[in-house]
Amino acid sequence: AFEGLAERLQGTLDRIKGRGKVSEADVKEMMREVRLALLEADVNFKVVKQFINRVKERAVGQEVMKSLTPGQQVIKVVNEELQELMGGEQSKIAHAQKPPTVVMMVGLQGAGKTTSTAKLANHLRKKHNRQPLMAAADIYRPAAIKQLETLGEQLNMPVFSLGDQVSPVDIASQAVDKAKEEHNDYVLIDTAGRLHVDEDLMDELLQIKEKVNPDEILLVVDAMTGQDAVNVAESFNEQLGLTGVILTKLDGDTRGGAALSVKAVTDTPIKFAGMGEKIDQLEPFHPERMASRILGMGDVLSLIEKAQTNVDEERAKELEKKMRNADLTFDDFLEQLEQVRSMGPLDELLNMMPGMNKMKGLKNAQVDESQIGRVEAIVRSMTKDEKQNPSLMNASRKRRIAKGSGTTIQDVNRLLKQFEDMKKMMKQMSSMQKGKKKGKGGF
Ligand code: GDP
Ligand code: MG
Repeated sequence: AFEGLAERLQGTLDRIKGRGKVSEADVKEMMREVRLALLEADVNFKVVKQFINRVKERAVGQEVMKSLTPGQQVIKVVNEELQELMGGEQSKIAHAQKPPTVVMMVGLQGAGKTTSTAKLANHLRKKHNRQPLMAAADIYRPAAIKQLETLGEQLNMPVFSLGDQVSPVDIASQAVDKAKEEHNDYVLIDTAGRLHVDEDLMDELLQIKEKVNPDEILLVVDAMTGQDAVNVAESFNEQLGLTGVILTKLDGDTRGGAALSVKAVTDTPIKFAGMGEKIDQLEPFHPERMASRILGMGDVLSLIEKAQTNVDEERAKELEKKMRNADLTFDDFLEQLEQVRSMGPLDELLNMMPGMNKMKGLKNAQVDESQIGRVEAIVRSMTKDEKQNPSLMNASRKRRIAKGSGTTIQDVNRLLKQFEDMKKMMKQMSSMQKGKKKGKGGF
């Protein structure tokens, strides 16, 4: 449904892939692609504008520019904001303290109310072990009652109907009574729709609402109708007050802009998505999954990773050369430190690495944020010359550095020693690797 956005972004990322750093201009280009893709996906233009501004605010700041992987961070921000746009967390269906939970299904004709009523009944029984009663309150559309009854038979679930000569208000209220008698814990009221939002429709729905005091008023909207879906949602919400949205036909050839705009415009969460005509093709709506789907996250992320690997490889080669010649400086050291830092809190990072969370001992021994902070402070207290040429270090310089970094001379000495050890070790390792490459290889 959202190939546009994923493709567009991937194109940009492909171009960035070979480069060492991603510039502010690259970020701007990415945002341009995001904007175009969203507009193409028929997202409300006001929503797009707000969205882009929020992403830019977060992404084009220092935070990203300093980082070694701005592309990745931009994607992350876009993903988070997409998710936020669609409601952030998953919104669950209401569950009344005192059963039955009364749910009104509303929407235009053909949106998928009747189908969704049966789907929701099925979902509630299968996933939540509930016993819903469906109520046929659409007395206008020919065969609407029969349609719901047939679905009920298919599911072997009860449908309450009083034919088409009783008012929908009475049908709804008697259905609730019936549910109490029969101990049904949900009542799903399938109401009538019109081709357009009109006063008669709203009057009737308002009367039902007043009579049965529903816990949920779910608007069923067709995702394929794009901007219309947003307008429909707006007027239903204004006149009736919605508690949630079921977005149907997301399986179709929809550009899906509705999914992105409905929540933003009406501030009503999307609770379910219809993914096909079959009775089990209703899914709880997960904003984070939808955001990933829109972004084509998997592919995009792997591309970014590749780009990142290229950058790191080049830099690693440079460093290796420096180490071989034993001219590693404290500037390089600081850069490395920042690389580690930019990836986030160390223990969090370690937790994400497979197997690392088990090695608690190692974790505690090696990852001490304050230790790293101290090291960084020491290096930053060095002069330019000292960083480039550690052999300049003497007693008075060490004293000055200790004072400047709020540490002790012992701390400074320890770091210098560690740094020299590291250089030695690196040298050994690189000569070992060279030897390995020349040899036939072990094992
Ligand atoms: P109502 O007038 O709002 O009650 O709409 P219906 O429930 O009668 O549905 C109208 C049409 O849309 C029917 O042909 C349904 O099979 C179809 N439909 C409903 N939901 C979905 C969906 O999620 N995906 C697809 N592909 N078709 C759907
Ligand atoms: Mg219907």
